[in-house]
Amino acid sequence: MPIQLLPEEIASRIAAGEVVERPASVVKELVENSLDAGADRVEVETRAGGKERIRVRDNGAGIPTAELELAFRRHATSKLTQVEDLYQIATLGFRGEALASIASVSRVTCTTRTSAEEVGSRLRLEGGAITARTSVGYPRGTELLIEDLFYNVPARRKFLHAERTERRHIDSFLTRYAIAYPEVAFHVTHDGREALRTPGQGDPREVLLAVYGTELGGSLLAIPPELTAEQEIRVGGFVGPTTVHRANRGYLTLMINGRWVEDLRLTYAIIQAYHTLLPVKRYPVAFVTVELSAEEVDVNVHPAKTEVRFRDGDTVFRAVQRAVRATVIEEAPAAATWTPAPTPASAGGETRARLAALQPAQQFRLEEGSTLHGPAAPADTSAVPEREARRNGQKLPPLRVVGQVASTFIVAEGPQGLYLIDQHAAHERVLYEQMLGAWNTGGVPSQPLLEPQPVTLPPDEAARLEEQLPALAELGFQVEPFGPATFLVRALPAPLGALQPQALLADVAAAELGTSPIREGLEERTVRIICKRAAVKAGQILSREEMEALLRALEEVANPRTCPHGRPTVLELSVEQLAAQFARR
Ligand code: ADP
Ligand code: MG
Repeated sequence: MPIQLLPEEIASRIAAGEVVERPASVVKELVENSLDAGADRVEVETRAGGKERIRVRDNGAGIPTAELELAFRRHATSKLTQVEDLYQIATLGFRGEALASIASVSRVTCTTRTSAEEVGSRLRLEGGAITARTSVGYPRGTELLIEDLFYNVPARRKFLHAERTERRHIDSFLTRYAIAYPEVAFHVTHDGREALRTPGQGDPREVLLAVYGTELGGSLLAIPPELTAEQEIRVGGFVGPTTVHRANRGYLTLMINGRWVEDLRLTYAIIQAYHTLLPVKRYPVAFVTVELSAEEVDVNVHPAKTEVRFRDGDTVFRAVQRAVRATVIEEAPAAATWTPAPTPASAGGETRARLAALQPAQQFRLEEGSTLHGPAAPADTSAVPEREARRNGQKLPPLRVVGQVASTFIVAEGPQGLYLIDQHAAHERVLYEQMLGAWNTGGVPSQPLLEPQPVTLPPDEAARLEEQLPALAELGFQVEPFGPATFLVRALPAPLGALQPQALLADVAAAELGTSPIREGLEERTVRIICKRAAVKAGQILSREEMEALLRALEEVANPRTCPHGRPTVLELSVEQLAAQFARR
């Protein structure tokens, strides 16, 4: 076949396929147009998951009668005039493709009026061809009615999912825009049933409550605008406290300059900001907005406009990571609340079996004047806000030891009520921060062994340990090769206290070096492993002095409420909760 230019009809069908993938894409394009038109009220109505009809009505600027037909032509837009505009896009739309694309695969009725005109106009199109045009009375604004989506593209229609799935896609888009545009009142119905209604009063918290419900919506922490107010990249929005987490990334949203985008790297920046604060394989809930100069970000990556490119991606990454982390640490409520379980956990039996030799008490003690720094987020050792964050937020109040339960939990009293501390998790956290703090500020002191101790490992583990010797040296170990598969241990990191070098090095050698979802250095990973080994175990009886030393140390650390693996260290039961449990109210 000879090369031919595609007929307009085929070309526009191909182009439409990129913009209009499913009913939710239609809703997205139409609502973005409404927002671009300055509407503060947007109503969305669907039938059959948008397959039968989608109606979007706004009170925005409207389309002048003289331009209405043009609005449905491909590459017709009122948002760009010169090529330079492409590099500083301030509107959600700019490609002039959406109306043309939607019209080419459905039956469209557009009714609109601008404030400059007395009567409005209505245009009907089928498969992109105009079938009727009339004058009508209409309030200022625009209504687009899309019927029989993909009626002329049977292949696409067949690929649509169940109505429920399509509704979910529509809602997931609309809820995000409702949160990002709190000054706009959204009203959404599916098959006549209300799905979302937001007040449009400009308060994003109210929208969060409307969207996520009082429990989740109310728990989210606002990223303080002051954090980045003076900077080129402003980060805002809401993030979950460390007590709120989900099994997947579905609750992570990024809005860049008012546009919902998918960006793997920035998503990762948010996840990394929670490093060691969430249980493993759990993901935070976050709605993060980033505002930066339009010239710094290129939206023209894909027709659906859901991806962006940054001129300086690293800076944006750090800005997001720091703002989120500072918020999570500083703004977190004073304590995780504890709802007492009806059946008291019998943690004793199993954990007691792992009873190990009690560590000397000195290891809990902090030397007078010793510096403690928060564990900087691994990929960003300069995360400044952490140190300041210690002054309030998650820090623990002074606690008085009451006793020990099941040789595993410390019972303590604080100003609010009862505190239960997991001794192993708490000690792990203390050691972790001491080790990383020392490492970040110039080196972990070594504690020489009275007599150098040989450690022999299986050959494959010995090989792996050999690779890690430089990292271990940084962390205060003095270990040298000593014949095949044998090492001589001369000194251990001082903060860890007396330890069995054999077990410790076996742990380090056996650890998976595989890629974790979160980038972290060999040192941090190693620190977590050795702290786990060095911490007091569940099932160890502690003296009152030891318990007190542990609590004093825990009060000092930056993130006392989770262990380095993200499990909680402290449960709190307030006096009010106690009173309620005893029906004293
Ligand atoms: P784009 O949004 O990229 O400009 P569209 O095809 O989505 O392209 O829309 C074409 C034009 O129609 C817009 O530039 C705008 O002038 C006008 N328009 C579309 N929807 C609306 C609306 N709801 N209110 C006012 N004008 C609109
Ligand atoms: Mg548009």
